Amino acid sequence: SEGVDIVVIGAGPIGLTCGIEAQKAGLSYVIVEKGCLVNSLYNYPQNMTFFSTSEKLEIGGIPFISDNPKPRRAEALEYYRRVTLKFNLNVRLFEEVASVEKVDKGFVVQTSKATYHARKVVVSTGFYDLPATMDIPGEDLPQVTHYYKDPHYYAMQKVVVVGASNSSVDAALETYRKGAQVTMVVRGPEIGRRVKYWVKPDIENRIKEGSIKAYFNASLMAVRPGQVDIQTPDGMATIENDFVLALTGYKPNFDLLRRFGVQLSPDDKLYPQHNTETMETNQPGLYLAGVVCGGMDTHLWFIENSRDHAEKIVRHILQQDLSQTWL
Ligand code: FAD
Repeated sequence: SEGVDIVVIGAGPIGLTCGIEAQKAGLSYVIVEKGCLVNSLYNYPQNMTFFSTSEKLEIGGIPFISDNPKPRRAEALEYYRRVTLKFNLNVRLFEEVASVEKVDKGFVVQTSKATYHARKVVVSTGFYDLPATMDIPGEDLPQVTHYYKDPHYYAMQKVVVVGASNSSVDAALETYRKGAQVTMVVRGPEIGRRVKYWVKPDIENRIKEGSIKAYFNASLMAVRPGQVDIQTPDGMATIENDFVLALTGYKPNFDLLRRFGVQLSPDDKLYPQHNTETMETNQPGLYLAGVVCGGMDTHLWFIENSRDHAEKIVRHILQQDLSQTWL
């Protein structure tokens, strides 16, 4: 087993920032990532454009140069990879953290490949691993997905897009433009208010002119091979269907947080308990960083406003007498 001051779980933008801050402070650390580098971003839709401008995605003070007003996914992958190499961050990829056990002198972190003894643990696991499910019959059928990648696949197919937030609107417009016959199923009365301001008129006009069909105040009720049922204000509609893009949001891995000993708020937000000044959870020595902090409120945190979690954590760790812990 290997001993380090800090094990950071997750190599997303904020986990990487934690590594940079630890390194600057002269602390030893390892960033353990279950997938590839910036795995969540890698799994975003292929043509995704960020809602943030490039400087708001910057970490470690390294400029993010893009000639687009809002950078694309491919540019962000390039940027975070270059930052990782520049700082020579200690990242272990394709290694999943299975358990974090509190012991007298710190933590034992068990991964799919190794055991680490850590004085402190930072959980920066994001929220993109688990989809918020619809819990309807047929959700497990192969034509249903919670992760949309690329529009070409859906050319000349009948596609239902569930949801009206950024992911749903992007998928509806892209697949429509590659020749899919698109129907949106929207729970509320209108397109989401947080939809990127330059995209919103596009979707609203496509719906108005009828090139994209939308059911508002509606829910997808069932999926069967070849068709779906939609509950609408005018009753149940059954329509022909080839694919369902259920872009109904994502949620943090609450089971993992519970297993790490983090308390969640008793309401339906499931906020993981932590001190907002130090980012330390109810479990002393175990910290949260990045978008995982928001619980079910996944839009609360983003890169720009959670980058400073890393500094807060490292500052707090440096204030402590680490000689009381092992290594
Ligand atoms: P993540 O980037 O999600 O990183 C968490 C990492 O932890 C992942 O790589 C994951 O594989 C890893 N992990 C999870 N569990 C384990 C485990 N057990 N062991 C090891 N590794 C694990 N934010 C913005 O600021 N601007 C935007 O424009 C923007 N656009 C977005 C678009 C989409 C489609 C989505 C879904 C989100 C968007 N966000 C945006 C939010 C964005 O995801 C976050 O701001 C950013 O990814 C948060 O970084 P993070 O490091 O906190 O989490």
